[in-house]
Amino acid sequence: MRKYVIIGAQGSGKGTQSLLLARDLDLVHISVGDIFRWHVQSHTKLGAQVRRAVSAGELVNDDLVAGVVRDRLDQHDWNYGFIIDGFPRNPRQAEFFLESYDIDGVIHLDLPDAEVRRRVLARRLCSRCGLDYNLIAHRPADEGRCDVCGGELVSRPDDTEEALAERLRVYHEKTDPIIELFRRKEYVFTIDARPDKHTIQQTIRERLNLPAYERS
Ligand code: AMP
Repeated sequence: MRKYVIIGAQGSGKGTQSLLLARDLDLVHISVGDIFRWHVQSHTKLGAQVRRAVSAGELVNDDLVAGVVRDRLDQHDWNYGFIIDGFPRNPRQAEFFLESYDIDGVIHLDLPDAEVRRRVLARRLCSRCGLDYNLIAHRPADEGRCDVCGGELVSRPDDTEEALAERLRVYHEKTDPIIELFRRKEYVFTIDARPDKHTIQQTIRERLNLPAYERS
């Protein structure tokens, strides 16, 4: 059983790296941001409660977040473990998490703010199938259309200059201190998030003593 947390600024590749780990190691990938976005798009009661904070790039109330994480982990569908992405984001969430669960490692993807801005403002998402694009590294063949399903490519509503500035400010103010808190427990693996996704995945595998990564 392997239990990991992945932390990093917006656009540092948390989702991409989590999916590669989850696929090869049979981990369940839990993205708190994806869960909230699903609720907003599906117009649930929770979606209505979090919509404003999510589109402004502000943190959602800790009790709602703790509830979502608890409900998800209570499903106990993670026989081989989990990788949790986007949580904890502040000291209170970290306390709640450490009281209830023990973890094997915190993967910290480190990316300078200037590169965060460059990547996030170039990020696009297929409005139909949800595939991720990036106008720098992963361009669609036909500008504005998904290569796989032909759906329209859109930006996430919180990937604007304004919301991103707020998300980065919140990240440094609230999330930096918990990296220090985890570091004191000696299980933080800080990884340079600037290289390509395969190199980063390879480094994660080496640092965490996991089975070697085979590119596919
Ligand atoms: P992400 O996709 O991780 O950038 O998350 C998108 C948005 O969901 C964030 O900007 C927050 O509004 C909300 N969110 C995700 N995870 C958390 C969390 N752990 N605590 C509070 N808000 C969160």
